Amino acid sequence: MTSIFTKIIQRDIPAQIEYEDGEIIVIHDINPAAKQHLLIIPKKEIPTINDIIPEDTQLLGNMFLVAKKLAKKLGISDGYTLHFNVGEKAGQEVAHIHLHLLSDL
Ligand code: AMP
Repeated sequence: MTSIFTKIIQRDIPAQIEYEDGEIIVIHDINPAAKQHLLIIPKKEIPTINDIIPEDTQLLGNMFLVAKKLAKKLGISDGYTLHFNVGEKAGQEVAHIHLHLLSDL
């Protein structure tokens, strides 16, 4: 089944897009848990961190580089949180990995 994030990537549903390149899209969370709450999402639809494979290493690293770049752009480099929820029992609602970037700066 196509994830809601893939539908956003395909422009089937709208979102506030902050950044996009060939392999990553970054959107503003629709229900922000902090003053700034971005979701860094690979275009490759990987259900959970439990499903990553060695070939995804560079993609995952690039997600963190994008996080750093956007934190600088938004002026929150001095304090932000990055996290993945892994599995429904940890609060993962969307089965398409996404790195949360949150800051109250
Ligand atoms: P998680 O609970 O880790 O799976 O995080 C999913 C996040 O996606 C939640 O913080 C939701 O608020 C957010 N979310 C769900 N649907 C959308 C959407 N259409 N646009 C932006 N953010 C969304």
